Amino acid sequence: MTDQSYFGARSGWIEVVSGVMFSGKSEELIRRVRRAIIGKKKVQVFKSHLDDRYEGVFSISSHDGRAVDAAPVDSSLQIARMTNPLTDVVAIDEAQFLDPGVVPLATSLANRGVRVIIAGTDTDFRGEPFGSMPQLMAVADIVEKLHAICVICGGPASRNQRLIGGKPARYDSPVIMVGGRDSYEARCRHCHQVPRLDEDQVPLL
Ligand code: ADP
Ligand code: ZN
Repeated sequence: MTDQSYFGARSGWIEVVSGVMFSGKSEELIRRVRRAIIGKKKVQVFKSHLDDRYEGVFSISSHDGRAVDAAPVDSSLQIARMTNPLTDVVAIDEAQFLDPGVVPLATSLANRGVRVIIAGTDTDFRGEPFGSMPQLMAVADIVEKLHAICVICGGPASRNQRLIGGKPARYDSPVIMVGGRDSYEARCRHCHQVPRLDEDQVPLL
């Protein structure tokens, strides 16, 4: 289901575009924002950022090179303060990094008639729910879960494989590594590797 299915609805709802890295979330967010602009809507785009290592922080670019302008934020309060009361559409990228306040913020914007588009990675490198994404997916009116292509087997990828020095990161490494020494690739559930210290003691379910 996409935003198209909400044509004709009273204005004000929450759309979540979730999925792993490389699944096309930014492409999809850019597509929706462009179409809203074509529809003469007043659009504000925000992107959460953690530190200065991100280049082009004033725009959202997808891996295919398309881009829209975005205001960098590091809290939901900043989004609340920067949102113009006349705005029709609020889009937020990288929502997994935002504080839990993003959930009531998205809810109150939608309740007062704003179309809220949220893109974010729904699972962290361990394959566990990431930040407020599960709550956002629960309160959303429309949820789309995108998949990338597993770089190992070519199947649909639903996991972020973190590599440190080219090797799978251990379960106990931090969820957010500042400094950019890690890298990621898209993998399916079966090719995803998260070695644990207590690996042998984990019961098979
Ligand atoms: P996201 O925001 O989810 O990280 P992007 O919209 O930035 O995704 O990028 C999606 C694009 O990434 C795809 O259209 C494709 O060109 C490229 N890409 C690179 N690696 C992969 C992969 N393993 N699976 C799918 N797409 C990939
Ligand atoms: Zn695979």
